[in-house]
Amino acid sequence: MIGLTDFSRQWAEISKDVHAAVERVGSSAWYILGNEVTTFESALQPWFSASHTIGCASGLDALELSLRALNVRPGDRVLTTPLTAFATTLAILRVGAVPVFADVDEAGLLDLADAKQRVQETVRFVLPVHLYGHMVSPAALRAFAKDHHALVIEDAAQAIGAKREGELVGSVGQLTATSFYPTKNLGALGDAGAVTTNNAELAACVRRLRDYGQSAKYVHDELGLNSRLDELQAAILRTALLPRLQHATKRRVAIAQRYQRELNGHFAIVAPAVDCDSVWHLFPLLVQGDREVFRQHLSSMGVATGLHYPLLAYQQKAFTDVARTPHEPLARAERFARDQVSIPLHPWLTDDEVGQVVDACNTWRG
Ligand SMILES: *Cc1c(COP(=O)(O)O)cnc(C)c1O
Repeated sequence: MIGLTDFSRQWAEISKDVHAAVERVGSSAWYILGNEVTTFESALQPWFSASHTIGCASGLDALELSLRALNVRPGDRVLTTPLTAFATTLAILRVGAVPVFADVDEAGLLDLADAKQRVQETVRFVLPVHLYGHMVSPAALRAFAKDHHALVIEDAAQAIGAKREGELVGSVGQLTATSFYPTKNLGALGDAGAVTTNNAELAACVRRLRDYGQSAKYVHDELGLNSRLDELQAAILRTALLPRLQHATKRRVAIAQRYQRELNGHFAIVAPAVDCDSVWHLFPLLVQGDREVFRQHLSSMGVATGLHYPLLAYQQKAFTDVARTPHEPLARAERFARDQVSIPLHPWLTDDEVGQVVDACNTWRG
């Protein structure tokens, strides 16, 4: 079966470097918030348009830390997309704020033109998600934030290294949150995340908040979390995974380009805008016809598929407050939830396997 990712092949590639990283941390006799975390934070900088990087425990925490650093209060409204990992919405709910949903554009990203028309209430915060590795327009985001006097938190969990209009991800947000969950383009061997920002004060605030809100040892001026990044994960990320990210991203892009040239079945490719250098975290299709029949066809030909995402945030049972759901259906987001399918796209796919995926897709007749 050709899977959505292949951790066994990754392990074969990185195991020596991982063992060396473990040895380095073990023999340093320093396991929490030491040199490895600091050095990894610096090494990440070329991948985001920001001068400060703060490691933390997960992408969810990176979002919560960012919202808290901007002093988002209970009841504050946060404009966001319903088509995302649930963590995006969960972070908003965890700080007591209210998610306000707008529809998505043809690339599956928060549609700021739709938001402008649909959203009548004041929104002081915007949380766009650079979904699938495709990036929301920095110019559009900047213009929206200016018009609405809003602050921006970017969710870049799927878009490390993405560019649009010549700008690297993280250029607009006061803060940008990312995740190193194992399946992400830069995936740890466990949970990890980071926040980036160009603002030194916000960076210092996130550093306090990730460590119980400590301003000095045993001094707590605010209530924080335990969201520290382990030395072990930082060491593994920096010397086993980060040095391979550029090559892996190029491989993702090359496979995505081949898919775009060769796929021609009863589906549409969810492509990024022409001015966007996507990092292709996923390869999303919108299927015409019965999605489950398409998935069964691919499965019978040895190709795994995924759904990103089958339920919109406001369709989740955990999200019970009907008052917060949109008054009118978000037609495009609902089409994605109904018809989207992800086919395998990861750096360890061989050219033969890419060909098999193409054959499987193109032999489906709807
Ligand atoms: C993975 C992901 C998150 C959450 O990251 P975790 O590290 O799993 O907490 C948030 N937003 C998006 C868009 C994601 O893909």
